[in-house]
Amino acid sequence: MTCFTCIEFYGTKSIGSGLKGCNTFLTGSTNLKKSAVSDHELSKAHIDATANTAAKCSDSAAIASSQAGKAMLSLHLSERQRLMHLFRNAHAVGKKGRPITDYTWLCNVTEANGVDLG
Ligand SMILES: [Zn+2]
Repeated sequence: MTCFTCIEFYGTKSIGSGLKGCNTFLTGSTNLKKSAVSDHELSKAHIDATANTAAKCSDSAAIASSQAGKAMLSLHLSERQRLMHLFRNAHAVGKKGRPITDYTWLCNVTEANGVDLG
C-alpha cells in the first residue's frame, strides 16, 4: 500500500534521505492495519505533502481570499500606485513640453503631498 500524495510530492528524492525509513508509504507498506493508515495521515511528512499539493491546486479566488494573498495584492496595489504617479508626472512634463528638470521637481512635489515614490 502506497500514498499517492506522498509519492507525488517527494518522488524519488526521498530515496536515500531520512524519509525512507519514516514513511513506508513511499516504497509500499505491508502493514494493512487501519492504525497504520491513520498514523500515516497524522505524520509530518504526509501533512507537508498534503499542504503542498493543496497550495498547488488553489485557484486565484482562493489566493485572493487568503491573508497572504491579500497582503500580496496590497503590495502590488501600492507598487501600482507609485508607478501611476511617476507616469502621470512624466506625462505632464511631456504634454506641456517642459524640461526634464521639471520632472524631478514634480516628483518632489508629489512626495511632499505624502506619496512615497521610492
Ligand atoms: Zn502520505
